[in-house]
Amino acid sequence: MYSAPINNLIEALKKLPSVGQKTAERFVFHWLASGKKEVNELRESLDDLLKKVKSCEICWNFSDASPCSICASSKRDQSIVCVVAEVPDITAIEKTNEYSGAYHVLRGLVDAAEENNAIGDIKTNELWKRLETKKIKEVILALNQDMPGETTAMYLEREIKKKWPAIKVTRLARGLPMGSDLQYADEVTLGSALKNRH
Ligand SMILES: [Zn+2]
Repeated sequence: MYSAPINNLIEALKKLPSVGQKTAERFVFHWLASGKKEVNELRESLDDLLKKVKSCEICWNFSDASPCSICASSKRDQSIVCVVAEVPDITAIEKTNEYSGAYHVLRGLVDAAEENNAIGDIKTNELWKRLETKKIKEVILALNQDMPGETTAMYLEREIKKKWPAIKVTRLARGLPMGSDLQYADEVTLGSALKNRH
């Protein structure tokens, strides 16, 4: 049996994606062995995360300012909105150097297999609010090419066409590996999927 502080930290770490008991133990004993400097660095980083990172009130990117630098930039075409599931997808698309519009982060996807992950849990109302301004000409649905990505894309496309028929809705061209996350696609493949969107 471990002492309470050790157990508490193990339990906290187990809430992280793909961290189980063994991995959590390995982290905790690593920190106990490595000493105060490393633990303090980690604590400061976590403090900064809480204090300095904000959600962009327009696109739901994580940033040190709201609006984020992409939403605030006059060099970006704010009339095109690329809809992605998660914030790291923005980084993946930015790396292609093929895109100069704005983004909208859904912060998740609708998973038909999981009842608790409903439309209301993702940032759709926030997207409608942006489309309502009539300043958006095109919405690019850059979602993962798997079931949740497909379900979400179909829903968004249907709703946008119904409510704002003048807005062009496009999807990434095929060619991304099926079922894989956007973030893991290589830059060239993702760049050409974006360029050849339809
Ligand atoms: Zn933003």
